[in-house]
Amino acid sequence: MNTAFIGLGHMGLPMALNLLKAGLALSCYDLAEAPLAQAQAAGARRAAGIADAVTGADVVITMLPASRHVEGAYLEADGGILAHAKAGALLIDCSTIAPASAIRVAQAAAERGLAMIDAPVSGGTAGAQASSLTFMVGGEAAALERARPWLEKMGSNIFHAGASGCGQTAKVCNNMLLGILMLGTSEALRLGIANGMDPAALSQIMSKSSGRNWALELYNPCPGVMPQAPASRGYQGGFGVDLMLKDLGLAVEAAHSHAAATPLGELARQQYQRLSEQGHGGLDFSCAFAYPEH
Ligand code: NAD
Repeated sequence: MNTAFIGLGHMGLPMALNLLKAGLALSCYDLAEAPLAQAQAAGARRAAGIADAVTGADVVITMLPASRHVEGAYLEADGGILAHAKAGALLIDCSTIAPASAIRVAQAAAERGLAMIDAPVSGGTAGAQASSLTFMVGGEAAALERARPWLEKMGSNIFHAGASGCGQTAKVCNNMLLGILMLGTSEALRLGIANGMDPAALSQIMSKSSGRNWALELYNPCPGVMPQAPASRGYQGGFGVDLMLKDLGLAVEAAHSHAAATPLGELARQQYQRLSEQGHGGLDFSCAFAYPEH
């Protein structure tokens, strides 16, 4: 079985390396030279372009930045994945993109008789390195079962979210909630500190009370409370403000296209937009604690 892997960025490269470690034959392609060389050094075949990577592949995996890259890579008339994938190939897009975009590409794939799933991930670069990603899969259950041996080599939790696009919907719902929880947690901690409380003591109390949440318990945004959290290393590493902003943009877009009310999601998007405009786009998203709106 030949596998093509396209998009060797912060996430894609460690995911591809895990497939190689598991013994799969991989053809890799990225626009950038450095990750391509790393994949080749680990045993991958280095493809000259998308068409070269997917020709003859039984499974095609993509991990690209955003909707426009995914639509370009799959739909381009001459050099795209759909134009060159072999009959019966299975297509797996792991990028985080708009649900509507995922549906559009999957429909175009279906018109050519190709099965496709949207399989965005949660778990960040650490999860990608440790093969412990969570996959949220949209598409036919049968296509997910075909993809499972590949997903299991890159992740530890695999959920069937529903029809095509539902993987992306699950991902944007989760990240919208995470963005809101981080802002709320930061606000509560700052309120406590302003009123004379020790943030570690306040965090401990809220972690055993009804304000308990992931941002507070595992990713505390106040420096010094949690040594392993990005807040305690100058908000370096972790999940960047600009990535959160992108996901909140997808959430708001998905809400508008179906007339769903997400006022807190919109407010969170505005806050991360402000942080990005203030030059903090590369910092971890928990830096909302350090740069509140005045
Ligand atoms: P990244 O920007 O590091 O990597 C994207 C890669 O795609 C780059 O190496 C780029 O050169 C390549 N690329 C772009 N267009 C291409 C094309 N036409 N052909 C070949 N290669 C192309 O991004 P990332 O952090 O790896 O994220 C990838 C996706 O995963 C995004 O959708 C992101 O939202 C999502 N995601 C990221 C994280 C994270 O923590 N970084 C976590 C979960 C999900």
